[in-house]
Amino acid sequence: LAGKELKKEPTVVKVGDVEIGGKEVVIMAGPCAIENEETYIGTAIKVKESGAKILRGGAFKPRTSPYAFQGLEEDGLKIMAKARDITGLVLVTEVVDTRDVDLIASYADIIQIGARNMQNFKLLHEVGLTNKPILLKRGLAATIEEWLMAAEYIMAAGNSNIILCERGIRTYETATRNTIDISAIPLVKELSHLPIVVDPSHATGSWKYVNALSKGAVATGADGLIIEVHSDPSNALCDGPQSLRPSKFDQLVNELRPVAEAVGRSL
Ligand code: PEP
Ligand code: MN
Repeated sequence: LAGKELKKEPTVVKVGDVEIGGKEVVIMAGPCAIENEETYIGTAIKVKESGAKILRGGAFKPRTSPYAFQGLEEDGLKIMAKARDITGLVLVTEVVDTRDVDLIASYADIIQIGARNMQNFKLLHEVGLTNKPILLKRGLAATIEEWLMAAEYIMAAGNSNIILCERGIRTYETATRNTIDISAIPLVKELSHLPIVVDPSHATGSWKYVNALSKGAVATGADGLIIEVHSDPSNALCDGPQSLRPSKFDQLVNELRPVAEAVGRSL
């Protein structure tokens, strides 16, 4: 189902008036996690003004340490819903447990499956039973075939609205948090009709490289980007070092426009 044997034309995932996989390069942005109402809504307004169409934010966080901030859970989802009411942005947020799928589906417009859960087959099946588009992140060490087979699990359960997300893979290189696999973009386009977006924030772990890699992703055919933006990165509860300040994000979107146009897209 994820391959091109049965469906040759590209899948365009529609959420409200946003289309992922069409002519427009779609920008998703927001902090790693929802920390409190005031800063979340402030950041939401800023990223919208800069041109983001989709607002990100984690309410259930899959953290490496059990002692790290785990997210505000349903209180965080409520803050997200308020941000949507104010800005009109479409919401994307992660689910980490099959028991929370219905709760998250009741708030989110797009459900995210994180890298660590790409092969959580029960979770893939459960989100496949919902009618929400799924942002499926590539696993930390997943091959492109394993990633497409994870999409296949969701599609086999009845949900074909999938957006693939390249977010860097583990390699021997430790200078960046992960290694961005730019080749995944044309390869996925060759093998699958599903749209693909790139997350340069988790791919590099450092805000300094987000601008260059965003341009590389758009130049090589990505249908969108998902970028971490925080109003005060040095005090962020999660992923501060890779978060852009709103002003840098605004600059990035402006610099991306000519890159998108050069490959026949709009932004
Ligand atoms: C995230 O998007 O907040 C996240 C945890 O990303 P990943 O699953 O790619 O590490
Ligand atoms: Mn993060």
